[in-house]
Amino acid sequence: MATIKIRCNGKEKHVNEINLDTLLAASPTTVYRGTIQVNPDTIPPRMILDCAFCTTGKVIIEKLIILENLNREETDEREK
Ligand SMILES: [Zn+2]
Repeated sequence: MATIKIRCNGKEKHVNEINLDTLLAASPTTVYRGTIQVNPDTIPPRMILDCAFCTTGKVIIEKLIILENLNREETDEREK
């Protein structure tokens, strides 16, 4: 599944790569003909993770970003 890059909100603005597979492991997902279907209702409006590179920054992932990136990787592969 897609990986998204989100900067932490610390002063260093580290780029964190977030794997949507890991992120959504707790949400019920269904794979239908190679497309991953996630019930948007199961995704919280935002998720807040600790920055992987510093102790002060947080990585805030908006639901919209998750939905926009869910099937991006699969789409790219089909076009090759
Ligand atoms: Zn950071």
